[in-house]
Amino acid sequence: MKADKPVLPVTDLDGKKRPLIVIAASFLLVVCISLVAVQGWSIYSARETQLAQSAAATANMARALADHADSTIELVDTILAGVVESVQHDGITHYGERLHLHLIDHVSRTPSLQGMTIFDASGNWALQSLREPIPALNNADREYFIYHKTHTDKLAHVGPPVRSRATGAWVLPVSRRLEDKEGNFIGVALATVQLSFFRTFYDSFDIGKEGTITIAMDSGALVMRRPYLQENIGMSIAKEAMFKQWRARATPGPGAAPLDIDTVDRMYSYRPLRRYPLFVAVGLSTNETLANWWANAYISTAWVVILLLILMWMGLRLFRQVTLRDELEEQLRNAQLALVTKNRSLKLLARNDGLTGIANRRLFDARLDAEFNRATRDGTSLALVLLDVDFFKKYNDHYGHPAGDACLQFIGQCIRTGRRRAGNLAARVGGEEFAILLPNTDLYGAIVVAESVRRSIASAGREHQANPVGIVTISCGVHALVPARGMEPKQLVEAADKALYLAKSTGRNRVCPDAPAVSSRRERASILGS
Ligand code: GH3
Ligand code: MG
Ligand code: MG
Repeated sequence: MKADKPVLPVTDLDGKKRPLIVIAASFLLVVCISLVAVQGWSIYSARETQLAQSAAATANMARALADHADSTIELVDTILAGVVESVQHDGITHYGERLHLHLIDHVSRTPSLQGMTIFDASGNWALQSLREPIPALNNADREYFIYHKTHTDKLAHVGPPVRSRATGAWVLPVSRRLEDKEGNFIGVALATVQLSFFRTFYDSFDIGKEGTITIAMDSGALVMRRPYLQENIGMSIAKEAMFKQWRARATPGPGAAPLDIDTVDRMYSYRPLRRYPLFVAVGLSTNETLANWWANAYISTAWVVILLLILMWMGLRLFRQVTLRDELEEQLRNAQLALVTKNRSLKLLARNDGLTGIANRRLFDARLDAEFNRATRDGTSLALVLLDVDFFKKYNDHYGHPAGDACLQFIGQCIRTGRRRAGNLAARVGGEEFAILLPNTDLYGAIVVAESVRRSIASAGREHQANPVGIVTISCGVHALVPARGMEPKQLVEAADKALYLAKSTGRNRVCPDAPAVSSRRERASILGS
């Protein structure tokens, strides 16, 4: 029956739900892994971009500063070359006041030029742009003087920074050899570049708090460095990692992050001067370069972590809801099963007798009405057998009520077996009263059925000491009729009951019909004998 089936196809739902959970969990996992991967990649590429931009900026700056230093020294050297030409033309002793004024004019018009000096072959000051009168000083000990004295090349020589004997300031000496027409050494022409000129220029760049700009000799002598420290000028940086890296590099450009004079981690770009033995190094602090990147990385990672937590929370909620639904469905399934079982037993209880298991009075009444109507409609005979246990009160009294119940179960079993056809209905209609409704059966057929049941009970020989015959017996009243319109079922029952009364009153343990046609002893004998 429809109502007996579970309302929801819960088992089917269960089967489809499992893969859905697996798909959802896999999807969530893929999303989480993708998020982490994308975040990792974007952090990594942002770092690479930042470092590349920083490297490009330092490379550009190094190139510009090297060009600047080149131009500065070249300008000084050009002036120096002119002076040398003039001295060599006029001779070292015929320079006169005109050349002196010429030197002063050059120095005043060239901001990078600190001063110009002419030395004779012994290193004595012969002419000076700054000091008047010329002091009796000797520079024969200076590196550039020794160089020109011992080298015959006429090119400009840039020496390591020295402290000017004229002003006391740090200068970069640019010098040329002076010689007579025969090529003999007659002295040195010196132009000094103010290191403060570089310092002012380098201070104008934005290289952060920890950035450095260095200009040094190829030999390792430091010319100028930002941040500026006077005691650093002229010192050798030949042992510094930064310098070693520069020497090790075949081509100029950005380098890794070696240590400088201080211990700050930096990215360097190097550039040699085109014409002079110097190089420029620009270093930006790795920490400062990556400061923004770190901040962005922290913020974006925090967002990703929050997103991951939200996703995981949602996933957990989803799983919990599915689990909860599982439990609810299980409870629902159990409740439905319990309901169905209950319904079945209620239906059985409503239709069947609890003690004997055969139909109860209710079902009997309903079937009697239905069969009576059908018989009326079809014009067929409907028969009824009423059966009553003989001396059953005494049986109870003698054997006890539980034994009486067992006896009733036995009687019920015999009646069920003896009802013959499936369409016949065996029912318990009272305490120890039973009925067999026999559709499409005439009186003779009903008597046969009743007699068969009576015999089967009697022949079972179930002990009943309170019965004069010593065993359990029943009496049966039988009636059959072809119902006419206007007749009622109770007429059939009353007639069968009358017949039962007759059976009781005529000695019990017998079948009695309530029909004049079979009331004669012979006919009854013929029926019962058949
Ligand atoms: P008779 O031969 O005239 O039918 O005598 P009787 O004692 O069988 O008749 P009566 O109708 O006086 O007694 C019926 C008895 O059936 C009374 C009651 O104790 C007993 N009875 C009715 N229902 C049940 C039941 O469900 N179980 C048991 N054990 N006894 C029942
Ligand atoms: Mg009775
Ligand atoms: Mg009885």
